[in-house]
Amino acid sequence: MKIIIIPGDGIGPETMAVTSQVLESVSNKLNLGIELEQETAGHISLQKYGSTVTPTLLEKVKAANGLMLGPMSTYDFKDESKGEINPSKFFRKELDLFANIRPARTYPKVPTCVKPFDLAVVRENTEGFYADRNVESGNSEMLITQDVVISLRRITRQCCERIAKAAFDLAMTRKKHVTIVHKANVLKIGDGMFIDICKQVGEHYPEVQIDDFIVDAMMAHVVRAPERFDTIVTTNMFGDILSDLTAELSGSLGLGGSLNAGEQYAMGQAAHGSAPDIAGKDIANPFSLILSAAMLLNWHGQKTRQPQFIKAAQAIDRCVDQLIDLGEVTRDIGGNLGTKAVGDSFVKHFAKY
Ligand code: ATP
Repeated sequence: MKIIIIPGDGIGPETMAVTSQVLESVSNKLNLGIELEQETAGHISLQKYGSTVTPTLLEKVKAANGLMLGPMSTYDFKDESKGEINPSKFFRKELDLFANIRPARTYPKVPTCVKPFDLAVVRENTEGFYADRNVESGNSEMLITQDVVISLRRITRQCCERIAKAAFDLAMTRKKHVTIVHKANVLKIGDGMFIDICKQVGEHYPEVQIDDFIVDAMMAHVVRAPERFDTIVTTNMFGDILSDLTAELSGSLGLGGSLNAGEQYAMGQAAHGSAPDIAGKDIANPFSLILSAAMLLNWHGQKTRQPQFIKAAQAIDRCVDQLIDLGEVTRDIGGNLGTKAVGDSFVKHFAKY
């Protein structure tokens, strides 16, 4: 399995270094033959090649079996004509990674203000309110006058259908409960279509219980009782916001792993951003990226029918659980280890598996 590694900006380089160390030790221990190839995107690529991402990089990613993308300073990349392309959007769009799966759960030793829960947000990733992926070229956000901006949201039947199917397939491996999150009381046509299609797809999964909530009410329900939910399917922006909330409710954004998956390709990526406030201080939690790497191995194992990768993903999850139980974690979740030391601890404990 060849994985392209892009460290990214902010806390990306330090958390990706630990994730690479984890992947190498898992590969050696379980004889998986994982090959890591490091590439650059974002600020470093902009300085070197005049663009945050390049066509050559895309070809390399397509030729590999998976991509690990570190967090990117997306806010800095404003003008595509100057090569400032949001790398995250670039890969999601170019590789058609339509399903962003963001699991969140509590851990017995991580303090939280909620009851134990275990859920997954399934976020549509290729359209919605994200102006940078809504049109063939250019951007669907327009400055009409100095004081008027129009941002277009795109919702299509095809994208609703495939994200709904991804959610119901996932629910079948979990607690068989799908919650549709929308704003159909205001966005009557677009979100109306989203709910209708999710329910139609759900008819093919008679064992799965379905309910739906308006996104604003959903925020209150998730804060009050996250244990009520299992698989949550929603459009792009709502999923982005909701999944930061669910990651934080689990104890820290640093626990928010995620996978961006399509039919052919997949990309592991932490749910959070580049956290420049803590970059370079050896305090960032690497678990979000490590858990994302586990999701990528699981995806590869399912796709290529190689159970050893699925087992490796489960073993990584268990090792993270163990480190959390032992308190060998970063300070955001109550420990006192640095980012690098968490990687060393992981390798030490994984050796016993
Ligand atoms: P960006 O502009 O790239 O989105 P941001 O700082 O605005 O970056 P996030 O990176 O999502 O947004 O992070 C919000 C806050 O959560 C950070 O300031 C940081 O304190 C905390 N945080 C995020 N990721 C981690 C992590 N892996 N470990 C510890 N704390 C984190």
